[in-house]
Amino acid sequence: MLRKIPLHWQILIGIILGVIFGIFLKPIVPYLSVLGILFIRALKMIVVPLIMSSLIIGVTNIQQGSTLGRIGIKTLVYYLSTSILAILTGLFLVNIVKPGVGANIDFSGITATTLEEPSLKDTIINIVPDNIFQAISSADMLAIIFFSLLLGVFITKLEATKRQLLTNIFDAVFEVMMKITLFVIRFAPIGVMGIVVDVVSVQENLPELMIRLGKFALVVVVGLAFHLLITLPLILYFIGKVNPVKHYKALLNVFLTAFSTASSNATLPLTIETIEEKSGVSNRIASFTLPLGATINMDGTALYELVVAGFIAQALGYDLSLAQQFVLVTTALLASIGTAGVPMASFVTMTIIFTSVGLPIEAMFFVMPIDRPLDMLRTATNVMSDTCGAVIIARSEKEKLHY
Ligand code: ASP
Repeated sequence: MLRKIPLHWQILIGIILGVIFGIFLKPIVPYLSVLGILFIRALKMIVVPLIMSSLIIGVTNIQQGSTLGRIGIKTLVYYLSTSILAILTGLFLVNIVKPGVGANIDFSGITATTLEEPSLKDTIINIVPDNIFQAISSADMLAIIFFSLLLGVFITKLEATKRQLLTNIFDAVFEVMMKITLFVIRFAPIGVMGIVVDVVSVQENLPELMIRLGKFALVVVVGLAFHLLITLPLILYFIGKVNPVKHYKALLNVFLTAFSTASSNATLPLTIETIEEKSGVSNRIASFTLPLGATINMDGTALYELVVAGFIAQALGYDLSLAQQFVLVTTALLASIGTAGVPMASFVTMTIIFTSVGLPIEAMFFVMPIDRPLDMLRTATNVMSDTCGAVIIARSEKEKLHY
């Protein structure tokens, strides 16, 4: 019966139960909170193999696609630039609005790690691991990402049989990790209940907590809306010479599907069909740019992950140094590249950002109660950015669009 209820409703039920138990059943909190801890541990368990295989496969795909040369480079430049613009929008807003400053949120129930403040010099030095196995076992994310990118690039330089062998292996690892991720995410309702129980039971001031979450959500919504309605249309208009209103109108069904499924992957077939039928982009460009976009171009996710990290840092009274802001921006970019196009995938890759700046991973689940609507909006942003990329690349290749 439970399986028939969509996951996000199940999560909502988990949150409501968590709040009720946290307020009225304090004696059982330590037992229920075990469920939350197990859920967090399961997510942490998958992050390193998932990110490594996803990045390695991503790089080998791009390199193989680079027979497409010019188009490959243009696509990559577009994807990286829009993600960076989204991140900067998030950084700006979270610093201006400061939704977490003075929040007085008690994280004592869920947090275990202490904050550390590495210098910029150390941060840069640590990007290159002196021992990759040590980096893996201590989940040293920047070092792991660096090594994975390197591995991906050099796999494509191998002779054909070996290249194929390694590509197949990492492809298979990625697929199995995705399956495990989806399996773990199925337990989100119980896990979230366990986390919420813990957070709620130690709060002195629940209404304050809700207000803070609301402020945080507002920053995310305003940031995503700015990216969707200002940044992307400007890029479409000035770089692609495409009328943004006509483009958005043509892609409305894609927007709504991404919004309702909260999954770039699930939307992908419709995205390809619509961009070919309604926008007139050739299959050659659509079939290269869009699948790649659904995998690596996640503007909304990048913005979201950065705002969550900024918000939690503020709520913990943690003043981010210049070095950490730099790490925040780079890791948000890399994390969004590594995020899978499925609902809630951000919570796996967000651990990269959190560990890199020394924020306690457990604290990120604090925003989970309002994740679903924000996931819908960030997914729609992710997908719309892919479609803008496809038409801009098509225009730059002198293709004739339908508008
Ligand atoms: N749900 C997002 C997507 O599919 C990923 C995420 O940010 O969780 O694009």
